[in-house]
Amino acid sequence: MVENASEVEDVQSVSSARFITPPLTGRKRELLGDLLGKFAESVNFYIQKCLEHKVTSRASLHHVAYEEWKSRFDLATHWFHSAGQMATQTLRSWRKLCRQGQANPEKPPAYKARTMRLELWGDRNQTGVCRFCGNVIQIRIRRGEYLWLPLVVTEHHVLRYLRDWREGKKKVGEITISLFKDRANVFVPFKCEVEPRPTEGICGIDINEQSVDLTILKPNEQPKHISLDVSKLPAIRHSSQLKRKSIQRKLDTPPQRPVQKRRLKAKYWRRERNRTNQILHVVSKQIAKIAERERVAVTFGGIKGIRGFMRSKRKSKNGRALRKDMRRRLNQWPFRKFQFYAEYKVARQGLPTVEVSNYHKSKDCPICGRYNRPNGHTYRCKACGFEASRHLVASWNIAKDGARHVPADCWQMQSPVDGLVAQAKLGMEPEKLPVQFSTGI
Ligand SMILES: [Zn+2]
Repeated sequence: MVENASEVEDVQSVSSARFITPPLTGRKRELLGDLLGKFAESVNFYIQKCLEHKVTSRASLHHVAYEEWKSRFDLATHWFHSAGQMATQTLRSWRKLCRQGQANPEKPPAYKARTMRLELWGDRNQTGVCRFCGNVIQIRIRRGEYLWLPLVVTEHHVLRYLRDWREGKKKVGEITISLFKDRANVFVPFKCEVEPRPTEGICGIDINEQSVDLTILKPNEQPKHISLDVSKLPAIRHSSQLKRKSIQRKLDTPPQRPVQKRRLKAKYWRRERNRTNQILHVVSKQIAKIAERERVAVTFGGIKGIRGFMRSKRKSKNGRALRKDMRRRLNQWPFRKFQFYAEYKVARQGLPTVEVSNYHKSKDCPICGRYNRPNGHTYRCKACGFEASRHLVASWNIAKDGARHVPADCWQMQSPVDGLVAQAKLGMEPEKLPVQFSTGI
C-alpha cells in the first residue's frame, strides 16, 4: 500500500504464507511453549518498563532495562528487540484507545497472546532471532543454542512462494509462530518489490451487501461503471447460521453430547470461512484484473469505524438508526479482510491503492456536488437532475476523492476529475460482471 509520494519508487507487495510443522516431539514442544511464554513475559516486562520510565523509543529503553531483562530471561539479545517491537505496538494502540475513551488509562495493556513475531536473521541482520531456510526455520535461543522447526511444504507453497524466494525475487519478513495442539503454526510474509506502473486513471470501490461497485475515471473519457455480484456471501452466512442453529437444537436435547457438538460446530464454522474466503479471493482477484487492464489506481471507501457506526443504536444526525437485523447482516460482511485481499492483489500489479473517508460519499452529487438525501436505491439530484443507482454514486465519489490522494507523480496527464464532469451523461447503468466462483485462487 502506498502511503505517500516518496514511497512510489518501490512499491512493495506482501503476502503471507501459512506453514505448519509436522507433529513435534515432546522436547521441542516443551521448548517452544517455554519460548512463547518467555516472549509474552518479555513483552509485558517491556510495557511495564516503558510506563515506569515514561519512555517510548526502543533505544532509550534499551539503556534502562536491557541489563535487567538479560539477567531475568537469558535469551539472545534480539529477543529483546522483537519483544520491544510488539510492546511498542501494543502501547501505541492502547494510547490511541485511551484517547478515544475506549480503554482505561489506569490499566496498562497486557500481552496475553501465545504468539511471537521474531526478528529476521539473514543477509542484512546477522544477529536476528529467526531464519527461514525453505523447508525449516531456525530459531536462535542463546549463543550456540538453536531450535529447528521443520515445515510441511506443499506444492502450493513451492509454486506461489518458494520458487521466487529461491531465485531471490521474494524476500522474507518477520516470522510469526504459535503453537496449536502438537504442531506449530508458522506465518511467513513474503515481500517482493514490484515495479510501479504509470496509472491512467482511478477506480473507486464501494462495498455493499449484495455487490461491490466500481467506477473508473480517466481523463477525457466517460466514467465506466462495473458491478460485481457478491450476493452469494450473505447467502452462505445465512445458510450456515441455520445449520449451526439446528445442530445446537438437536444436540441440546438429552443425552448431552458436548464433544460432538463442538466438533460439528467447528466443522461448519470452518466450512463457512473457507467458502467466504474463496469468494473474497475471487472477487478481489477480479478487481486486480480490472485495475491492471485499465491501468488505474484503486481507492477504497474508508471502512474505519464502520462496525462502530453500525453497532450504535443512537440515531445519526440526519438518518435513522439501522435496523437490528440490518446491523447484524452488515456486521457479518468481512470488509477488512476483503480490502486486505484486494489491496495486496492490486499492489502486486504495481498499482497504488488509497483509502479515503466514506463521509457523504453516497449523498453528494458527483456531477454538481450538491448534497442530497437519497431515499431508497435511486439517487436523484435536485439541482442538476442527475439520476443513478446509489451504489454507483458512492463509488464515483470515492474515485473522485481518491484522485486527490493518489501521489501526484502517478498522473501522467491532468487530473481526470475536471475533464469529465462537463461531458458526463446523466443516469447510467453499471456494466454487470458475473463472478465465477469455480475458479481457484
Ligand atoms: Zn447534481
